[in-house]
Amino acid sequence: MFSAAVRFGVLGRFLLLCFACVAATKEATPASPDPASPLRAAPSRPAAGVEGVSGATRAAASRPLAPLPTTRIRGKDYVAADDMAARLALKASWEESQRELTLVAGARRLVLTAEKREVSCNGLRIFLGDAVRRHRGRLYVSKTDYERCLLSLLRPDLVSDPVPRLRTIVLDPGHGGADPGMENNSLRIQEKVLVLDVALRLEKLLKTEGYSVVLTRRDDRQLAPTKEADLQRRAIIANAAGADLFVSIHFNSLFPNTRVGGTEVYVFTRQGQRSDTSWGIGQADDTERDSSPVNRHDAWTSVLAHALHRETIAGLKTADRGHKTKHMAVLRGLTCPGVLVESLFLSNEAEARRAATPAYRQQIADAMAAGIRSYAATLESVRPKSPVPPATLPRPAPSNSP
Ligand SMILES: [Zn+2]
Repeated sequence: MFSAAVRFGVLGRFLLLCFACVAATKEATPASPDPASPLRAAPSRPAAGVEGVSGATRAAASRPLAPLPTTRIRGKDYVAADDMAARLALKASWEESQRELTLVAGARRLVLTAEKREVSCNGLRIFLGDAVRRHRGRLYVSKTDYERCLLSLLRPDLVSDPVPRLRTIVLDPGHGGADPGMENNSLRIQEKVLVLDVALRLEKLLKTEGYSVVLTRRDDRQLAPTKEADLQRRAIIANAAGADLFVSIHFNSLFPNTRVGGTEVYVFTRQGQRSDTSWGIGQADDTERDSSPVNRHDAWTSVLAHALHRETIAGLKTADRGHKTKHMAVLRGLTCPGVLVESLFLSNEAEARRAATPAYRQQIADAMAAGIRSYAATLESVRPKSPVPPATLPRPAPSNSP
């Protein structure tokens, strides 16, 4: 058997493959295709970028792709990273000293590290629901993380779930009424007040772009007598409004720690996985066996979270604390893609001072609008185009020549 270094070195030369060829492979559990098989050396098709996916690629993507072969590791289904690279038309290179596999094509880049949940995807920190595993000389990613998250981030044109429409956006300013959220007493600011202001600014921006925008609250109030009911109510409002997208707006806190700052983006934990916070020492395993309504939208939620993550950090120049998962009551019942954004820490003195100014809250709204714009652009780039009826095609201009 090849050593891992040799194996990944060899694969690096062969991995730029046509995903359509790989799609023809049959599911074979647990064996993966032989790295030396002719399939792997098939002539490659140029990699399609996330931006500007070709019509041919879109047409191919509209056909269902065969699942990648899976291997059972520690009781979970995993897919080999090199199979994933071939399917996504990424070139792989292995760095033994770092135990890192880098998969790259153009601007798309994924760095996987053996035995870690944190990966770098397109330059951003993503916390997977399962650790990347090294098994018999190859790296593996859990099937759930591949299918419900990484595939969406690297090749949204291959997502098999229907491309959602985007007309109605529901913004959810966190907390309200008797629940102030996080408070910074020295600056006399409350999360519930600041996030409502950001939501109103973001609403204005999105309305000028033609979206229908609904807020879960427009003033200082609780939406139900108990916290749990209040959170559930927000998803009910979004569903009743026919939301195509839901963004819950919050500010973070880690009192009494005043040094930690930065941006976190949360999605609802994928089925059968654990919340990011449950991985800490002494934390209970909070795995939910059943899927929640919002899990039907995992793939597009991942795209939405990635866009908001990237644009919020780019717009605010905050530290990247990652795209994480959590069993959040506010997201659980949604029937559309939904994300919770914590753009900064009110417990961090410098960030709290900035959040206290209207100009900075406008910057936050601008960054979130850019994230939603980027998500919308991705949807449009992969949305199947309906064929133009012949009657609407322009007629050739009459010729003046005899
Ligand atoms: Zn909050």
